Amino acid sequence: MNLSKQLASMQQTLSQLTEEFQQLQVYIANLEAENEWLRQQAAPAVQNNPHENDGQHALQKLYDDGIHVCPAYFGKTHDGGCLLCMEVLSNVSN
Ligand SMILES: [Zn+2]
Repeated sequence: MNLSKQLASMQQTLSQLTEEFQQLQVYIANLEAENEWLRQQAAPAVQNNPHENDGQHALQKLYDDGIHVCPAYFGKTHDGGCLLCMEVLSNVSN
């Protein structure tokens, strides 16, 4: 491979990396926004229920709002009916 081909190959690699880096930046920004939203959802649920079942209420509220509370998918959105979440919720209520 001659020098100009090597240079072209390096430029292509660099532009791919730049594109991946930009995608990662968007991904991180989305995660930060989701994290902030989750904090805002969780904080009032915990603060407004000064009872023994705070954790259960907070988890139930998160789940009802469409957020997984199971360890496998915690923080991700769900369409309802996650068996792992229901297991978690039934364990904390006992
Ligand atoms: Zn779940």
